[in-house]
Amino acid sequence: MSKQEQDQSEKLEAQLEQSYNTLMQRVKESLNQTREGVGNLRQYIDTAVNKAIELEEINDMEARKLGNYLHRDVQDAAKFLVETGKELKDWMRFDLSLIEGRILDSFSGMVDYTRIELDKIAEQAQADTHIHTGEIASPGTIACNACGKEMTFHKPGRIPPCPACHKTEFSRVWNEPDAKNNAE
Ligand SMILES: [Zn+2]
Repeated sequence: MSKQEQDQSEKLEAQLEQSYNTLMQRVKESLNQTREGVGNLRQYIDTAVNKAIELEEINDMEARKLGNYLHRDVQDAAKFLVETGKELKDWMRFDLSLIEGRILDSFSGMVDYTRIELDKIAEQAQADTHIHTGEIASPGTIACNACGKEMTFHKPGRIPPCPACHKTEFSRVWNEPDAKNNAE
């Protein structure tokens, strides 16, 4: 990769991360304005995606991709909380104080909203949970499907190839629920 190509790629990366943050912020704001659970998270995300397209902040295809990444990650976190009764920090696998307040506020707000949604709808379709190089990850921890190498994201970031084996497919990892025979 030439210096110029690298500069462009870094610029694109920064733009995507910025757009992702804006997306989270807009969804959170519209959730705050909602008194009751009207509509589901997907609709709020789609509205925020359309806003970004309308304002020409990002192209159509990239905006929709970001919306899908965000929806997948929020659902994954909410499902984890509902099924395990554990906390967001266990899903992230690190202390929440490592995340910038505004980002944490948006993300956890969406997760809380979805958690209530999930409680209402007992069976939720299993989303595709594979995560790939080049996508934007929400804060949290992912592991390479090939070699198990873990990467943590304290803020939304573009996923590189695995630093250990250069493969491109990952899954979320979280702190396993305590074994049943542990004293409670
Ligand atoms: Zn690997």
